[in-house]
Amino acid sequence: MSAAEKDALVQALGAGVRQPLLVDAQALEPYSHDFGGTARRLPAVVVKARCEEDVVHTFRTARARGVSVSVRGSGHSLRAQSLSDGGIVLENAPGDPDIVVGEDGRVEVSTRTRWGELESALNMVGRTAPVLTDHMATSLGGTLSVAGYGARSLVYGAHLDQVERLRLILPDGSARWCSQAEDGELFRYALGGFGQVGFIERVVMRTLPFQPVVRVQRNGFESFGALVESLSWTQGWDGPSPDHFFGQQKRGEVMSVFGASHPDEASASTTRIPGPLESLSHQRTHMLVRPGYFIQARTRADAPMEKLPRQFWSDYCFDYEGLRAFVKALEEGPRERYWDDNCLVRILALKRGSVRWPFDIRSLSSPASRLYGIGIYYRIEPGEDEKAERARQAHADFLARCLELGGRPYLYGCNAMTPELMERFYGDAYARLRALRRELDPDGLFNPGGLP
Ligand SMILES: Cc1cc2nc3c(=O)[nH]c(=O)nc-3n(C[C@H](O)[C@H](O)[C@H](O)COP(=O)(O)OP(=O)(O)OC[C@H]3O[C@@H](n4cnc5c(N)ncnc54)[C@H](O)[C@@H]3O)c2cc1C
Repeated sequence: MSAAEKDALVQALGAGVRQPLLVDAQALEPYSHDFGGTARRLPAVVVKARCEEDVVHTFRTARARGVSVSVRGSGHSLRAQSLSDGGIVLENAPGDPDIVVGEDGRVEVSTRTRWGELESALNMVGRTAPVLTDHMATSLGGTLSVAGYGARSLVYGAHLDQVERLRLILPDGSARWCSQAEDGELFRYALGGFGQVGFIERVVMRTLPFQPVVRVQRNGFESFGALVESLSWTQGWDGPSPDHFFGQQKRGEVMSVFGASHPDEASASTTRIPGPLESLSHQRTHMLVRPGYFIQARTRADAPMEKLPRQFWSDYCFDYEGLRAFVKALEEGPRERYWDDNCLVRILALKRGSVRWPFDIRSLSSPASRLYGIGIYYRIEPGEDEKAERARQAHADFLARCLELGGRPYLYGCNAMTPELMERFYGDAYARLRALRRELDPDGLFNPGGLP
């Protein structure tokens, strides 16, 4: 884009959005990388959108001028999805609270809300989001565009399963409400769809009564494989069960953590955790905790990209047998390459919902009612290029193994996905998405980095 074209673009955008635009190099720097820290792309301009009108004006201006727009929530993905090389970054920027909780427990909320803000508002009126991910500073729009899993996914699935309706702004700037019954296909391709068919502006979601105390059982294991073996009861379990779970290996310590929610300490301290857990003979610890115990991730410091660690993270989803085979390969694989000291490995159990979202990790061909996500997260300090290369190669191995075992990668992560791999993992859904995009965005200007 020439300097004159950029000036004209900035003028046209500025005429219709409320916040000042970011245009100088220093202001653009934080938008040139994401949490992964492995790619740099400098946009021409950043729009901080605070309302639907800002988004509509940006999309219309971009289309009229043939400029691409990339949508960014809080930029916590790792595959450069939210970056733009010389185009517009539209940041779904937090602003005034916009959260309405109805008598029936449904909440209508703007997607620029951060999860921490929503959860505090819900707790104040005795409600909670059924699923909370490990990171409360991400935007609703960003997590709903990937899926959103957490410790309560064991029982409640993903964030996106809780959405009943959403307001979608299409790439041409027109807007509509969608649900399973109204524009069902757009609804399914918008949620967990990496911003490929439009911008999710607002959602109406189910919530649950808030239970502030969790009774926890923590179990220690000798190896990650032993932890996975201990989970076999969860695969088909349909009776009363704990409602929180994660398993992890961190700095050599392997554990599983199960929790059951309670309205108060008295009931938590006198009620056993439902399910067969108490009869499992592992090194056990019992505790009473707040639900925040299950939310552990910290926001990364704000700094120029070269001073930040590079994060090679991805999660892979399998049925139970697939998980066992994957972990066996992980444990038998080249130790230095797979089990770096700074590598965290985490497992979540994922209940399947009634909807098969096209790009959701749970939409596997396996008929199992409960699936498992295993995340392998390498944090590489600046300058450690050899380690970075090992982490990249490890994830290339994991992706190949995932394909072989009938699993799916979680596409917020660092995997290098090619169109060929997309076809192999997502088949008809990928072909249909490409057709939808040709219809909705014929010039390919909307969120071009979302999926290959
Ligand atoms: C420390 C950390 C912990 C994490 N823990 C978990 C976890 O426990 N569970 C889990 O499921 N995930 C987890 N993730 C992954 C995280 O949920 C995703 O990276 C999520 O996309 C982050 O949201 P964001 O607001 O930063 O989105 P961004 O990274 O800014 O955007 C993600 C994608 O969504 C698109 N997008 C953003 N907003 C919209 C919108 N309104 N409409 C349409 N498209 C949009 C973007 O274009 C992009 O393709 C974690 C990530 C980090 C860094």
